[in-house]
Amino acid sequence: MIVVVASGKGGTGKTTVAAALAVAVGDRVRLRFIDADVEEPNAAILLHPFITSEESVYVEIPEIDEERCSHCGECARACRFNALAVLPDNVMLFEQLCHSCGTCQIVCPEGAVGWKPRLVGRIRRGYVETDWRRIEFLEGRLNVGEARATPLIEALKERASDECDTLVDCSPGTGCAVIETLRLADFVLLVTEPTRFGMNDLEMAAEAVRRLGLEAAVVINRATYGDAAAARRLISRLGLDVLLELPYEADVAKAYSRGKTLLDACPQWRERFEQLWWDVARRVARAKTAHRRHQ
Ligand code: SF4
Ligand code: SF4
Repeated sequence: MIVVVASGKGGTGKTTVAAALAVAVGDRVRLRFIDADVEEPNAAILLHPFITSEESVYVEIPEIDEERCSHCGECARACRFNALAVLPDNVMLFEQLCHSCGTCQIVCPEGAVGWKPRLVGRIRRGYVETDWRRIEFLEGRLNVGEARATPLIEALKERASDECDTLVDCSPGTGCAVIETLRLADFVLLVTEPTRFGMNDLEMAAEAVRRLGLEAAVVINRATYGDAAAARRLISRLGLDVLLELPYEADVAKAYSRGKTLLDACPQWRERFEQLWWDVARRVARAKTAHRRHQ
């Protein structure tokens, strides 16, 4: 199964929860961990993977053959992302805006549009040692200043075979990169905190998950820090269940700042994370059975 750990906003403890879950079950199941929070991948800070390989990820962008180009302007008019500007003596491409859709090549009457690769980020591969097994580790790193994360997410998804269970640390929010990551999920764990911002952003994330027709449940982090009762009421109204509540624990924050996981700080919580995994597994199995019955 593929479990995506997501959150409506940054700073809710999404990566903390994802890393703790990986450590809790990494000895029990054959697991792959994907850090798909490509703009700020930080699971490695907690999991300390041994990196064994690294590859570059490119997208194709148009390359204009100025010798053929008549500067007719068709390509710029057809580009719905405004990535092209045709000047009297050259064609400018705003690379960050280009979605590699190919429309400019189709409409060009002179056959002047070719392609060239553009580096957008890297994928690092490795593994995390647990007591008895290895967790396969994959991480996407978007180049600084890169506007579009989706090509890198797509590249990560291509490399995620279904040979083992997969835990994905998703970007926060509800943007394109998040939606692209969520499409991978059998189940979404929404990590929230019982604050006003946390609740507001949870509603947006829950709506995105609902529209994608995905199974989901909630983890309330720092439950003793805000109004947990209000959070539970909202979560119930959203039609979701709370599978885990974690109290605010200063030692967890200290452990994070030292590159340690939540389970290093609070080893007594290991069982609760194991339970969380099996709860999710049961829900995924139930959903798959129901889906098969309806086919
Ligand atoms: S459509 Fe082709 S010929 Fe016209 S401006 Fe664009 S690249 Fe040049
Ligand atoms: S490939 Fe698509 S997005 Fe990129 S410049 Fe051409 S038309 Fe615009």
